Amino acid sequence: ARQAASPDAPQAGGGAVAEHLTRFDSHPGYQQLSLMREGARRLGLSDPFFKRHDGNAGATTVIEGRDYLNFASYNYLGFSGDPRVNQAAREALERYGSSVSASRIVSGERPIHAELEGAIAEAYGVDDAVAFVSGHATNVSTLGYLLGPRDLILHDEYVHNSALVGAQLSGARRMAFAHNDPAALDDLLRRHRPQFERVLIVIEGLYSMDGDLPELPRFVEIKRRHQAWLMVDEAHSFGVLGEHGLGLGEHYGVPSHDVDIWMGTLSKTLAGCGGYIAGCQPLVDTLRYLAPGFLYSVGMPAQVAAPSLKALQLMRQEPQRARRLREISRYFLDQARRRGLDTGHSIGAAVVPVILGSSPRAAGLSHALFERGINVQPILHPAVPEKSARLRFFLSCDHSEAQVDHTLDALVALMAEPVEAPRG
Ligand code: PMP
Repeated sequence: ARQAASPDAPQAGGGAVAEHLTRFDSHPGYQQLSLMREGARRLGLSDPFFKRHDGNAGATTVIEGRDYLNFASYNYLGFSGDPRVNQAAREALERYGSSVSASRIVSGERPIHAELEGAIAEAYGVDDAVAFVSGHATNVSTLGYLLGPRDLILHDEYVHNSALVGAQLSGARRMAFAHNDPAALDDLLRRHRPQFERVLIVIEGLYSMDGDLPELPRFVEIKRRHQAWLMVDEAHSFGVLGEHGLGLGEHYGVPSHDVDIWMGTLSKTLAGCGGYIAGCQPLVDTLRYLAPGFLYSVGMPAQVAAPSLKALQLMRQEPQRARRLREISRYFLDQARRRGLDTGHSIGAAVVPVILGSSPRAAGLSHALFERGINVQPILHPAVPEKSARLRFFLSCDHSEAQVDHTLDALVALMAEPVEAPRG
């Protein structure tokens, strides 16, 4: 709420502006942050954010000189830090320099871009793909450009922030349906489809907070019946699901062409930075020539494209990595359940939450595990509802059963300890 301006407040543009509106420390975001910091200080907790890793973060990591078991990075197939992937980055840097120094449409296009996009399109078995410099920007730009005010975007209530921001930017009408509930989507479409021109349904291949997945065949059937487009964000499912790690489509045996827009990031399995859209030629051409976040942004640096291409090639050659990731994730899930932990709806593929029911409890246990050499991120309100605050464990194919057992034993022991009274 606005505060009344004091009589001696300076006049701006003929009207008085309350002084606090000119300061950042009165910004609602900063005020919320300050409250959170104060709460953590009272509980005697260190800031769980922005921890400084000294080197590559995989199944283990070094943070400020100390070794940790690491469950907080999405280096799912262990390709970040792989010497072959590093070598590809070095070679590209030597050959192309550190920046392509322009938008790709102007003079930023390099052969490595087409090689990466061709390999992504080939992995999906679709016409083409286009790679953006950020995964977040991929969703913002794609949704923001493809849809407009006469259109409707229907999305799972748990889709990533980037899809929500893209939907807002588009000016389309936006409606959420209950998580992983195709019947709720069907119902919304039955009621609203006739009033709109284009309709886009957005789901994820694997939900990053819960580690569960949508029933793709049902979504395909529904989108067909209502003549809508279906977009699947595979940020966390590509490299993880399916016999060869090819994602949600491979997991269900659904042909790639049954999904209109495949989206993914380069920052998880593919050990880089950026995002992609894969699909039919008219879709990819439209984005390549017209989507603002691609057109008006610099091209992906070659030393970022090359390691992702290398990681993708290695993933195809070494399907045992994806198999091992699923095996160790499943082991984590089974062992957590055996110890009575609440893992929600996780299917045991790369992401397993342990739901704790309150933000202070999640932050406190993350802090205590960290002191014992285990790095796992607490997920606190407002990222999730307070009652489902959790520790979120990311697995990698390089984790061992012994590491998982050690971690779960430590967690269970800490959970059994009496809760300390807040300090301060
Ligand atoms: N989509 C999903 C589902 C994500 O989880 C994320 C980020 N983790 C993104 C998109 C954005 O990708 P990036 O971090 O590569 O920008």
